[in-house]
Amino acid sequence: MIKPDAMRNGHAGAIIDRFIKEGFRIVALKQTKLSQEKAGEFYAVHKERPFYGELVEFMSSGVIIAAILEKENAVTAFRELIGATNPAQAAEGTIRKLYATSVGENAVHGSDSDENAKIEGSFFFSGLEQF
Ligand code: GDP
Repeated sequence: MIKPDAMRNGHAGAIIDRFIKEGFRIVALKQTKLSQEKAGEFYAVHKERPFYGELVEFMSSGVIIAAILEKENAVTAFRELIGATNPAQAAEGTIRKLYATSVGENAVHGSDSDENAKIEGSFFFSGLEQF
């Protein structure tokens, strides 16, 4: 996902360009907006964390771009490309270092396992939208 902060700050094009240049194939892509309920559902795993309310509020605060990306070892490669959760700790040249503003408003989301990538992909896209 490209998160609402990156959308508002005009970084969506540069971020998608980077995905392509780093060799990810776009399987599905769309702009959409999460309701508070849907954002809460997507991040349900963090329900007990102190920042959950803030996270749901932020993720439903504006449009996002959802995408399914394919590459060899995609989960690891993508997490390397986006960098650490906190942009202050993200490596030079990573998407979060370049475009994130804070640990909460950190420009992009990436799945943390192949299993979650499948679940999160079908959260946004039907089979007919994936090529
Ligand atoms: P990720 O896998 O790198 O996205 O990080 P996590 O799974 O740990 O956290 C999920 C998301 O919750 C992060 O990308 C942030 O948007 C948000 N988040 C994590 N830690 C904090 C925090 O301390 N404060 C706030 N406001 N949001 C946080």
